[in-house]
Amino acid sequence: MKDEPKIIDTGLDLDDDDFEEREETDMIVIHHTGDTDIDASAEQINEWHINKDYAAIGYHFVIRKDGNIEKGRPDWAIGAHAYGENQHTIGIHLSGAFNSVQPTKAQIESCAHLVACLCDKWEIPIDRKHIVGHREVNDDTSCPGDNLFAKMDEIVSKAAWYANQEASESDADEKEEAWEKDMEKIKEEITRYNAVDELPDWARPTIEKMITKGILKGSGKTDENGKPADIDFSKDMLRMAVYNDRAGVYD
Ligand SMILES: [Zn+2]
Repeated sequence: MKDEPKIIDTGLDLDDDDFEEREETDMIVIHHTGDTDIDASAEQINEWHINKDYAAIGYHFVIRKDGNIEKGRPDWAIGAHAYGENQHTIGIHLSGAFNSVQPTKAQIESCAHLVACLCDKWEIPIDRKHIVGHREVNDDTSCPGDNLFAKMDEIVSKAAWYANQEASESDADEKEEAWEKDMEKIKEEITRYNAVDELPDWARPTIEKMITKGILKGSGKTDENGKPADIDFSKDMLRMAVYNDRAGVYD
């Protein structure tokens, strides 16, 4: 995907060997911080979770209130964020207590952009079946808070928008490239040769012969300002002259 969201590595000291790799990935689970409204960082959450005896931060990503996306545990690793569902899911944590406050606009944007990117990478359909709030898979939690949960549809439709946006941009790139190639061809075809010095090697002897013999009324030289002067050939005309020359027309 072209326009990927920026993911900040805050340098958590994680060891890949501490994690097991997921065998399937078909769902993204959205979380919040809990009852206390703080702008928790990946580093803070990592400490909390290590104190709870997890190997490391349980989430794969943390989205701060300013919209910055911080890297949690490796995105290929089995997480520790949704009981019984960790084997097949990616966990995204938005910092804040969303039973009482609203997620920021920047958080919603970053979340949608990140979801679009992850769905592309792991081939997850972008819909409400596959992008869920924590409470939808574990019924003993109110996570991700009523206010963030109310925005799940918005996150999913924005993610779909991001996914399409990127696809259409790369279409445009391909069109531009094809157009440039066409233009190069056209330019080559409409190039005019106004001096012997400018001629391609394969045509030069023929044109020189035509000048020497007076078949062509012109010197083929550049003028005193160094500007090409008095002959005027297109590539097609050069080709024709060379064919004629081969046929002995100018001998
Ligand atoms: Zn949760």
